[in-house]
Amino acid sequence: MIVKFWGVRGSIPSPPTPTSLKERLLDALRVALEVKPNPSAIGDFLDNLPDRLVSTIGGNTPCLEVRQGDDTLIIDAGTGINALGRQLTNDDYDPDAERLRYLIETQYHDLPVSPYPDETEKILNLNLLFTHTHWDHIQGFPFFTPIYRPGTTLDIYGANGQQIKEALSLQQSTTSLFPVLLENVPAKISFHDFPPEGLKIGPFEIESLALPHPGGSLAFKIKSQGKTLVFATDYEFAGSEAGADSTELKLSRFIDLADVFISDTQYTYLESMTKEGWGHSSPLKVAEMALHAGVKQFFLFHYDPFYSDRKLFEMLERTLSYTNLLSSAHSMAINLAIEGREIVV
Ligand SMILES: [Zn+2]
Ligand SMILES: [Zn+2]
Repeated sequence: MIVKFWGVRGSIPSPPTPTSLKERLLDALRVALEVKPNPSAIGDFLDNLPDRLVSTIGGNTPCLEVRQGDDTLIIDAGTGINALGRQLTNDDYDPDAERLRYLIETQYHDLPVSPYPDETEKILNLNLLFTHTHWDHIQGFPFFTPIYRPGTTLDIYGANGQQIKEALSLQQSTTSLFPVLLENVPAKISFHDFPPEGLKIGPFEIESLALPHPGGSLAFKIKSQGKTLVFATDYEFAGSEAGADSTELKLSRFIDLADVFISDTQYTYLESMTKEGWGHSSPLKVAEMALHAGVKQFFLFHYDPFYSDRKLFEMLERTLSYTNLLSSAHSMAINLAIEGREIVV
């Protein structure tokens, strides 16, 4: 499987600020002054700089794409889904050329209402899983370009299909919120309850686990070709939980020996102690659980919108140090989920 991160921030989109870009430039220039790269090899110099100097973590809210061959699953519709939608609809269709051709062929009468006159070539059959419907996980949906194609079928799954329909309809319920009402989008959209026994879509076998979060959240375990991916965002280990019903125990069984585990790590450990009941996790606690569960690759995800990229790289360093203290011989890889990056499961 290939996983692409289209949006990794939590709560609200948080694009890099001018100050953060300037800080990064200054850091990179300091390294350049030390290394004194050959001007003709400046591109290689940049390519070899660490992510914290040349990359941004990204500012879009959650959206993941999971691919196996030609099959695709989408998880959540934060603002990251806009760029994914553009990629999915970026075929050789050229609306300007189509309109010119139509004008010529129809001798300038009766302009088409639909910008997609040739529907048969534009069919997309898509599956979208929702962890839950907090706004940061649905706010990109009205900008998901495939829903404006008559040839698109979209199957949507979550804890409660009807509730998802109501949430998506609400944000497209009146033109004072968005110009196109959900009931008027041309795609064929179906809403389903995620079945308790699990779901098979193409090559993907999917299970879910309910997690504690205001309003609830679903984690997904996706298996394909002998590999296992677990995505768990927007959940919290409640301080008073214990025993077989504790979130930690249930989730640690769910992620047992996973090849890749992508998890909510919104707050630093210190801040998480002041945000009990807010429904989010911290990287040290989650990394410890992942380590004990034998996870091979752990990715931090759903970052607090007020945390700078620099702070997130510091959180990664602390998580690496912490797990090395817990077990000097462990082999779990730990990384930040970075917008636009693909990982292999
Ligand atoms: Zn969220
Ligand atoms: Zn949430």
